[in-house]
Amino acid sequence: MKALIIGAGGVGTVATQKIAANPVFTEVMLASRTKSKCDAVAAAIGGNRVQTAQVDADSVPALCELFRSFKPDIVVNLALPYQDLTIMDACLECGCNYLDTANYEPKDEAHFEYSWQWAYQDRFKAAGLTAILGCGFDPGVTAIFTAYAAKHHFDEIHYLDIVDCNAGNHGMAFATNFNPEINIREVTQKGRYYQNGEWVVTEPHEIHKPLHYPEVGERESYLIYHEELESLVKNYPTIKRARFWMTFGQEYLTHLRVIQNIGMARIDPIMYNGVEIVPIQFLKAVLPDPKSLGANYHGQTSIGCRIRGIKDGKEHTYYIYNNCDHEKAFRETGTQAVSFTTGVPAALGASMWAKGLWRGAGVFNVEEFDPDPFLKELGEQGLPWHELFDVDIEL
Ligand code: NDP
Repeated sequence: MKALIIGAGGVGTVATQKIAANPVFTEVMLASRTKSKCDAVAAAIGGNRVQTAQVDADSVPALCELFRSFKPDIVVNLALPYQDLTIMDACLECGCNYLDTANYEPKDEAHFEYSWQWAYQDRFKAAGLTAILGCGFDPGVTAIFTAYAAKHHFDEIHYLDIVDCNAGNHGMAFATNFNPEINIREVTQKGRYYQNGEWVVTEPHEIHKPLHYPEVGERESYLIYHEELESLVKNYPTIKRARFWMTFGQEYLTHLRVIQNIGMARIDPIMYNGVEIVPIQFLKAVLPDPKSLGANYHGQTSIGCRIRGIKDGKEHTYYIYNNCDHEKAFRETGTQAVSFTTGVPAALGASMWAKGLWRGAGVFNVEEFDPDPFLKELGEQGLPWHELFDVDIEL
C-alpha cells in the first residue's frame, strides 16, 4: 500500500512519522508547498523511508501529475481546509482514496460545513473509492468515541457534550496551536449548538462555564461551533442536544479581542503599499509557527465526550476521554500535543483503510466505521483513552 501525505506542517510531521513506522505502507511520500520542509521531516525519519515532492495542492493538474507518477492508494490531506476539494477532485481523476482532518472552508468566507464534501458522495461511490472525512482528534476521535458509546453503552444517546481542554502552557503571550489562520477563523465565529432538531446561534463566547477535566482541574469552557456536531446529529438522530466546549485562558481571549478590534482577523484583501494583502494571512506570518511551540510546552490536553442517554430503559452518563502530555508528545515526535493528537488519528485512520478494516465506496464521516479496531490501537499509538461510568458530567 502506498500512502501520500500532503502538508508538511505540525500535523503532517506527526502523521508521516506514524505512517512511515507502519509496515502496512510499502511506500510513503510527503508532498507540500515547500519541499525543504518535507525533506527535513524525511531526514529526521531516516533510512530513505519517505520520499518527498513539491506540490501546489490548489491545482488539480499539479496534484494529478504527482498522483500519476507516485500512484498512491490513499492520499492523506494534512494541508489546509481550503485544499480539500481540489485534492478530492484529483483523487477522483486519478483513482485514489482520500482522508482528511478538517472540513472544507472557502478562503473568502469564514464558514465551514460538510455540504461541499458530502456533495462528492455519488462520485466517490461510482468510482468505487473511499473518502474518509474528519479523522483528526476533533473532529475524529471525538466522533469515534461517540460511535463507541453508541455501540457498547447506549441504546439511545440523548445529550452529547464534546469537551476540549488545552491546559498546556507554551510560555508565549499569544500563539495558536495549529495553523493560526484556520484557528482564529474558527474561534472568532458565532457559537452554535444543536437542540431539539434546530441549530441555536450565540454570539462568540457568549455561553461559558467552568468544567473539571481529569488530572487538570477546573477550566473556564466556552461553547463554540465545531464541525463534528453536524455529522453526529445526522448519524445519531436520537440526539436531543449536541454542544462543543473549548477552554480558553483570559490572556488568549484578550489578545483575540484586540486582534479582531484592530482588523487583523479580516479575511478580505486590503491594499498596503500597492500590494494586496489579507490581514489574517499577514498575522499568521508574524505569529509563532505552531510547530515551534513544542520545545517549551508543558501540561496536558484533555479531550473527550460527555454523554447522557438510555440503556435498557435506564438513564446513564458516560465520559470517554484522552489526556495527552505536551512534553511526552514533543519527546516522541518533536511537536506539541495538538499536532500529535491530530496526526496520530490521521495516520491510524489511513492504516484502518489500508488494512481493509474501514472500507466502502463513497464519502464517510469516521463515526460511520467500526470504532473497535481503531480504539484498540489508539493507545498503542500514543493516545490512551479512559472511560468513566455514571459520574457527574456537569452538563
Ligand atoms: P500548518 O499550517 O502547520 O501546515 C499546513 C501545511 O500545508 C504547511 O506545510 C503548508 O505549506 C501546506 N500547504 C498549505 N497550502 C498548501 C498548498 N496550496 N499546497 C501544498 N501545501 C500547502 O497546519 P497544521 O499542521 O497545524 O494543520 C494541518 C491541518 O490539520 C489543517 O487543515 C487543520 O485545520 C487540521 N487540524 C485538525 C485538527 C483536528 O483535530 N481534526 C486539529 C488541528 C489541526 P507551507 O509549509 O509552505 O506553508
